Amino acid sequence: KLQVTDLKKNFGSNPVLKGISLDVNDNEVVVIIGPSGSGKSTLLRCLNHLEVPNSGKVVIDNVDISDPKTDINVVRQNIGMVFQHFNLFKNLSVADNITLAPIALKHEDKAVATEQAKELLTTVGLAEKLNAKVQSLSGGQQQRVAIARALAMNPKIMLFDEPTSALDPEMVGDVLAVMKDLAKKGMTMVVVTHEMGFAKEVADRVLFVDDGQILEEGTPDHIFEHPENPCLKSFLDKIL
Ligand code: ATP
Ligand code: MG
Repeated sequence: KLQVTDLKKNFGSNPVLKGISLDVNDNEVVVIIGPSGSGKSTLLRCLNHLEVPNSGKVVIDNVDISDPKTDINVVRQNIGMVFQHFNLFKNLSVADNITLAPIALKHEDKAVATEQAKELLTTVGLAEKLNAKVQSLSGGQQQRVAIARALAMNPKIMLFDEPTSALDPEMVGDVLAVMKDLAKKGMTMVVVTHEMGFAKEVADRVLFVDDGQILEEGTPDHIFEHPENPCLKSFLDKIL
């Protein structure tokens, strides 16, 4: 369970998060929507202290991650993150990308880690790519490897920051299908996306973030069919 309380973040004198509070329960899928520059990526990055917030609290499974006694590296092992631009090691093989962290951080045996990588690749539809070089893969395939890599650490929660925005349209469906599958298996997920179809179908809850604040939240039906906030209405008018 993830508990965020009154999170604030400034870049210099620019207030980017203005007091965000949110709870994500186990097995819940929360989708974050909102205009460009509203603070969605900053919010995700504050959840695992890739950005350190100015104030507020992030508690994951009852561990306060801003507590100086908390080892943030251990916390990060439980939080998988998938980015718009994959962030894979391009010159390494798919297998090395996936097994690197489990071997280095969890001291897994290489053979065991490789066996697990094979299984994960099967679940993302890339069983035959174990020994391929990352740079030989398409964008959609690379993003599915990035998801497999995150899952290799056996995270309790997965964060996705616009995982399909950099993909050619014909690749988007494969990546969304993998995410849907994960959601179905009960993974706790926070997903920033412009894919409203995904949000409608998969989200338990949708948050509309604008100007560093959550202006509205609710079920997909509430957000998309019965929006109340005028900023949300005009956002939906623009994108739907
Ligand atoms: P997009 O939909 O375009 O990805 P976003 O909602 O993810 O936008 P953020 O990337 O969180 O928005 O950025 C929010 C604001 O914070 C923007 O004004 C941005 O310029 C600023 N910002 C983000 N990262 C930094 C940084 N490292 N240093 C300074 N300003 C930053
Ligand atoms: Mg962003």
